Amino acid sequence: MDFINKVGSTIARKAKEAAGISSLNSQISTQEDIINKLCLEIGKTVYEKRQLFPDTALDEKYTAVSNAYAEIDRLKSEIISVKGAKQCPNCGIEVALAASFCPSCGTAVPTPEPGPFVENIEIPPERIIYYHQEDTMK
Ligand SMILES: [Zn+2]
Repeated sequence: MDFINKVGSTIARKAKEAAGISSLNSQISTQEDIINKLCLEIGKTVYEKRQLFPDTALDEKYTAVSNAYAEIDRLKSEIISVKGAKQCPNCGIEVALAASFCPSCGTAVPTPEPGPFVENIEIPPERIIYYHQEDTMK
């Protein structure tokens, strides 16, 4: 009976120990999340104020971030174009094709001239299929 009590007590102690470790690991994870979030904010602040932090070690990263922002702008413009809408030249938001002014900043938004349905697509000569119209020419 003593042996069974001793084993039971050891199992209970091990379970309590495991729960304690799990709780501590969870608290470490919470602190790591706080660090990651704050470091991200610090990084964004440093990027935004990069003129105040001239650091040649960071120049390459500053440029990469700027390029990524430019690519996001280009992709957003492409989405607006695919949707058949137009973009405010001032604030960049999507504006309905029929609107004359940006609903957000009030800037005049010119309606683009209707372009050709297919524009500047170069078809390699080997992909061009010629149809002989002899039958319809009769
Ligand atoms: Zn605008």
